[in-house]
Amino acid sequence: MIHPERLRILRTSHGTTESGPVLYWVNRDRRVHDNWALAHAQQQALERKVPLRVVFCLVPTFEQASLRQYHFMLHGLEEFARDLAALHIPCDVLLGTPADVLPAYVAQHDASLLVTDFEPLKIKRAWLADVLAATHISMHLVDAHNIVPCWHASPKQEFGAYTLRPKLTRLLPTFLHEVPAIVAHPFLATPAAAPVDANALLATVRVRTDVAPVDWIVPGEKAARRHGTAFLQRLHRYGTERNDPTLQAQSDLSPYFHFGQLAPLRMALDVNRMVADDPDVATSAASFLEELIIRRELSDNYTHYNDAYDRFEGFPAWAQTSLNEHRHDVRDHVYAHDVWEAARTHDPLWNAAQRQLVRTGKMHGYMRMYWAKKILEWTASPEEAQAIAIALNDTYELDGRDPNGYAGIAWSIGGVHDRAWFERPVYGKIRYMNANGCASKFNVKTYIARYDTYADPGADGLSGRLDL
Ligand SMILES: Cc1cc2nc3c(=O)[nH]c(=O)nc-3n(C[C@H](O)[C@H](O)[C@H](O)COP(=O)(O)OP(=O)(O)OC[C@H]3O[C@@H](n4cnc5c(N)ncnc54)[C@H](O)[C@@H]3O)c2cc1C
Repeated sequence: MIHPERLRILRTSHGTTESGPVLYWVNRDRRVHDNWALAHAQQQALERKVPLRVVFCLVPTFEQASLRQYHFMLHGLEEFARDLAALHIPCDVLLGTPADVLPAYVAQHDASLLVTDFEPLKIKRAWLADVLAATHISMHLVDAHNIVPCWHASPKQEFGAYTLRPKLTRLLPTFLHEVPAIVAHPFLATPAAAPVDANALLATVRVRTDVAPVDWIVPGEKAARRHGTAFLQRLHRYGTERNDPTLQAQSDLSPYFHFGQLAPLRMALDVNRMVADDPDVATSAASFLEELIIRRELSDNYTHYNDAYDRFEGFPAWAQTSLNEHRHDVRDHVYAHDVWEAARTHDPLWNAAQRQLVRTGKMHGYMRMYWAKKILEWTASPEEAQAIAIALNDTYELDGRDPNGYAGIAWSIGGVHDRAWFERPVYGKIRYMNANGCASKFNVKTYIARYDTYADPGADGLSGRLDL
């Protein structure tokens, strides 16, 4: 049974049909397994003895989105729809924004309940509000992404990991449990859904086609599980090696989490099981769980409670004051968006990080901090720096347009979830980072050499490959 705090009943409509199917409007959590929203929708359908359908709204364009990201998403969706069909749960893809296409779909199926999953970003909140306004159907919202439901973990924006951690730690025993498996649905839905054809859908979207798909990571729920299992084999290295971008010690799971093809809860359960069998991995496991649970759920907290998560006004007051005091400091270099995008700054380390992003769709986590902080240092204003970092992140990263991205950029440029440091030019009291700091942690020359030459994946169709 779903924990009542994982669920928000948005509306209970009286007088509407009770015999129509339950619909799961899938947004963020596009997977069959470990999905509380799908499990809740099926539970509701079984209790009502009605069919269950899943529906996805494909928005033809998204600000700053690229073919690389849509390719990963839609190929994952193709597999999701196939696996649902095998469980007698049709999955329809509607072309258009939810408020434009969902009301007619709900009416066409005479649905009794609409279940959807929680996502804190503004555009998704607006979609939800629009669909609520444009329909009369009963609606349930489920947080299927966070291990501890975001609204239950804390009722307000947290200052940092140190304030959220004790709250999550206290609640984990209640929420870190297996999700019921989805069963073959006994009440058959008509009509069946047309099979999802990712390539045909890709032809309908208007996105940046010069940012090509990559082939080092395979989209879809099954590949995500394989990827997760392979990471567990090298989990013991995570504690000591994860901050070295010349090694492959990070999990590389963020694209799967972002597109909802893998549940963070799955990884947390598997890691805990592994620690029980092999206490030697406990230290690495603790570091991984800190990122997977505390840092990731802190990002959802930030974007859920701070509407200015992608703007200067979202930074804490001390950081805004300090950045304002240094607004007119002379910068050693001032680059515009196109110079950053083309990785043509004077700094070989920054350029290498940008090339890793452009080529592979996934910059190493340690380099992301350096990358964003240098954009602050060498851009005309903090507002412009934040906008450039978000634009590059949301176009090239496979895991872009995610609460983690807005929080990570706001941490790097605006001191969010951080504290005031020693004052220095341009940065003010924002934490500083430089290439010497990187050199003390890893072999900078090796990293630069790996991404030395500029190869634009769009220019020659080259897919990025992590040859680590
Ligand atoms: C400037 C900047 C931009 C970022 N942009 C994004 C983004 O667009 N999308 C994104 O998912 N993450 C982003 N991050 C956070 C982090 O760098 C990535 O989540 C991580 O590098 C993803 O790689 P991984 O899955 O191999 O991580 P691992 O180290 O294997 O961590 C496992 C998981 O823990 C979570 N995690 C790890 N580090 C962080 C962190 N610092 N904050 C929040 N959660 C974390 C992620 O869900 C990650 O997949 C950004 C960080 C910074 C500083």
